[in-house]
Amino acid sequence: MKAPMPQQAKNRKWRLYRRLAYLLALATLVPFLLFTVGLVQDQWRSARQALWLNLDANARFSAGVIEDELAAQTAALVMLADQVEPTSPRAGEALSRLLDAYPALLRARAIDAEGRVRVARDSRRRPLAQRVPEVAGMAWFDRLRDQVRPEVSGVQRQLDYGDEAVVTLAVPVVRDGRFVGALEAAIPAASLARRPADSLRQRGLWLLLLDQHQRVIHAEHELAWQVMDDTGRVGLMLAAVAAPVDRPVQVRRDTGLLRTGAAAYVGAVRLQNGWVLAVVAPEDALLGPLLPKLWLLGAALAVTVMGMLLAIWRQRRILGDGIGYLLATLRGYALGGHMESISPGRLPEELQPLAEGISELGTRMNAAFAELRQALEEREAVIAARTDSLRRAVAELDRLSRTDALTGSLNYRGFTEAGQRLWQESQASGKPLSVLALDIDYFKRYNDLYGHAAGDGALRRFAGAVRSALLHADDVLARPGGEEFTVFLPATSHAQAMRVAERVRKRVHEADIIHAGSPKGRLTVSVGVATRAPSDMELEDLLKRADAALYRAKDAGRDAVSD
Ligand code: GH3
Ligand code: MG
Ligand code: MG
Repeated sequence: MKAPMPQQAKNRKWRLYRRLAYLLALATLVPFLLFTVGLVQDQWRSARQALWLNLDANARFSAGVIEDELAAQTAALVMLADQVEPTSPRAGEALSRLLDAYPALLRARAIDAEGRVRVARDSRRRPLAQRVPEVAGMAWFDRLRDQVRPEVSGVQRQLDYGDEAVVTLAVPVVRDGRFVGALEAAIPAASLARRPADSLRQRGLWLLLLDQHQRVIHAEHELAWQVMDDTGRVGLMLAAVAAPVDRPVQVRRDTGLLRTGAAAYVGAVRLQNGWVLAVVAPEDALLGPLLPKLWLLGAALAVTVMGMLLAIWRQRRILGDGIGYLLATLRGYALGGHMESISPGRLPEELQPLAEGISELGTRMNAAFAELRQALEEREAVIAARTDSLRRAVAELDRLSRTDALTGSLNYRGFTEAGQRLWQESQASGKPLSVLALDIDYFKRYNDLYGHAAGDGALRRFAGAVRSALLHADDVLARPGGEEFTVFLPATSHAQAMRVAERVRKRVHEADIIHAGSPKGRLTVSVGVATRAPSDMELEDLLKRADAALYRAKDAGRDAVSD
């Protein structure tokens, strides 16, 4: 069965500093972002407002400039029409003077009442088309003749009249109320809007000038058309929204205006002659003034975030240090059994209650540990004393287990152990080892005569007599059994051993233990002597030779030493 999920979620670890980071982020970043959004929105709105006003003022001003220019040139033509007739021989000269006086004009023509071009002049003195042009039947000429009013054409390119896109101005020539012809002048489309276009460009705005048929008279190169292009949908839209020069313009947003297809704002004005002048601003222009502020806000945000991170990092360190210090204090207790007191200056106030708790715990632990240690020390002392006495008892038992209770000499076990030890030492050092095999003479009879208890007493005295004959501390007396004794003489040569044997025999004799059953009238001993020889493979061989020597001493009549 799987553990239920909510339990796992509850157990998930969380970190204080991470929470702090979230909280700080929430507390600073959210208001900051809200403020930024509000500010940007406000800025955007006021920038748009400013752009609206800008488009409105500039469109109307530029329209005024172009209208003034057209009016001035029309006025000049009207004045000339009052002075010369198209058929006059002075007409050519008059046209030349006009072109000199108005450098913006490219060409001028004098047309008679039938629509025939009588004279044509070019400001750059270029030759004009040879064919005599005929304007009779053209719509503008008929209108001019019928309405007797100045006429401004749309943008056009007349091959018989040069090769540039031009706009023509025409005025009727009237004498005595009779239409006698017309004067016409051409303005290059390129030059007509140059001045207002340049001044708009300096303000980051682009000029678009359309004729009555929504064809381009002038378009800045950022815009989607060139001179003479039909602007189609956009032109119709502009013609529809264009305001008269004395009314505020409507600003529209459109994506068909720019060569790039980007969105742009446009404000359009309708000129008196039916043309439409539009001023275009790219949508980016709104962002321009905002960018420095956005940069500033971004920098402020970066500084805030960095400050926040620094604060969190610092906080984390302070907390980490404090907890580390408390932990070290606790560890000190775990390792050394003693807790140092916590110095309050090293911790922030928030951790003080924890420190006080740990301090209190430490004091109690220290006291408890001191008590425990004292109890342990006492217990250890008791155990040590008991162990010591036990050890001594064991040593005593050990000694007793090797000692013959009757005579105080080594018993059989002590005899074998001492024998083996001395045998090995002798072998290792190469020093001699001699053995005396002792047997009391006629002891059976002693028992029979005086009783077994007296026999024991005699054995004790016998042992004392033997011991008195052994002068070296290393000499060992053992009673492996009955009334037979063995003496080990380490580092003792055979000759020395013979002398020791003789001394033993003598001392026993001198002990003067009365034995009525012995021919000598006292207790005597027979002694067999053997010294370790290379032929002895083990201790048993040496002991056998000593026993053999003992039998020889017995055979020799007892109370004797033999080897
Ligand atoms: P020998 O001169 O040939 O040695 O004659 P012996 O009578 O001493 O003969 P043996 O050595 O064979 O006799 C040993 C006697 O020693 C036998 C026993 O009565 C006596 N004996 C052995 N151990 C003890 C003992 O612990 N106490 C007493 N009282 N007598 C012992
Ligand atoms: Mg015996
Ligand atoms: Mg005997």
